[in-house]
Amino acid sequence: MEFRYYMPVKTFFGKDCIVKNSGEFPLLGKKAFIVTGKSSAEKNGSLADVKKALDNVNIPYVIYNKIEPNPEVEDMRKAAVCASESGADFIIGIGGGSPLDAAKAIAKNTPLPIAAIPTTAGTGSEMTPYSILTFDKIRNKKSISTESIFPAAAFLDPAYTETLSAEVTVNTAIDALSHAIEGYLSVRSTDVVKPYALESIKLIGECIPELEKRSFKSDTREKLLYASMLAGIVIAHAGTTAVHAMGYPLTYHKHIDHGRANGLVLYHYLKFVERESEKVKDITDIMGISGVDEFGEILDRLLGVKEMLTEQEITEFTKTAIAGKNIANTRPQPEESDIRKIFEDSFRR
Ligand code: NAP
Ligand code: FE
Repeated sequence: MEFRYYMPVKTFFGKDCIVKNSGEFPLLGKKAFIVTGKSSAEKNGSLADVKKALDNVNIPYVIYNKIEPNPEVEDMRKAAVCASESGADFIIGIGGGSPLDAAKAIAKNTPLPIAAIPTTAGTGSEMTPYSILTFDKIRNKKSISTESIFPAAAFLDPAYTETLSAEVTVNTAIDALSHAIEGYLSVRSTDVVKPYALESIKLIGECIPELEKRSFKSDTREKLLYASMLAGIVIAHAGTTAVHAMGYPLTYHKHIDHGRANGLVLYHYLKFVERESEKVKDITDIMGISGVDEFGEILDRLLGVKEMLTEQEITEFTKTAIAGKNIANTRPQPEESDIRKIFEDSFRR
């Protein structure tokens, strides 16, 4: 056995975990720069809880609520200037993967300690050393990866995810499932994280009936957030694979949500991997389904009407995807023609 395991995120999970653990914030610094999206943190209670916790311990803060989905790298440079001018010595990211990844990008250069508060159940960004940014210059998304952007603390309160639309809930759940599956199948997967991956897949599998009905009980929200956190720990070690490499151009050029973009290619990726790996069966077994084809049927129901790609788009996205660094994690190692075929099969009607 040989592995490397590193998970430096002090993690709190549960109802009211931010206010209950206000005492954690003075450990991070003396003034906070809060990075969040346009509006959801106001509505789901997370921002109010952070303000209350900071007030409890007399920590001043500045709020930067301009983060849009799929943050662009130049915007992050401007935000980092605001952070530096504010005099803050730590960053609090509140929101979905976009504000969390923005918080990491803003903190990166100094680097500053980060507290991460997810309000979607999908990216697992609170547990990863990655910040996925949009780079208009290369017309794609790209991941920055460095241990200094591991959040120092993460607070996961499932109550914040209650306000998610059904669409974002489904798309982010598919992202988490994709992380667990890709991490499990990655060449970098380890004995430590494989059980996390299978547990995450099992838990998300249990939520599929509600995901299909697009109606969620509170304990399902909790399960999805926990599963997404586990999947984050998995990709922090094992990385993602061809699915994410293929999803990025779909998001950049076709404006398809990140989780949905992964979901659109996941079935044909599994068909590709299954040819050489018995591990795919572990995934369908733990979900209690008959095989990859039944998995494809579930995805079809979750995704509904699929987008179309032109031949030219398939050619361009194939070239982009095959250059992705996570292609190296994929086994069997795909050739350009394999990636093209996965795109073609995924978008064939
Ligand atoms: P998101 O882009 O952060 O948010 C999508 C939408 O959901 C936004 O409109 C947001 O509102 C809204 N929203 C967030 N929380 C909500 C809540 N509790 N209630 C109601 N609405 C809410 O979506 P995401 O899927 O979580 O993140 C996607 C990003 O994460 C992508 O850039 C992807 O590449 C990245 N990602 C990162 C990692 C990693 O390891 N770092 C892994 C996978 C994916 P606001 O406008 O108010 O924000
Ligand atoms: Fe992802």
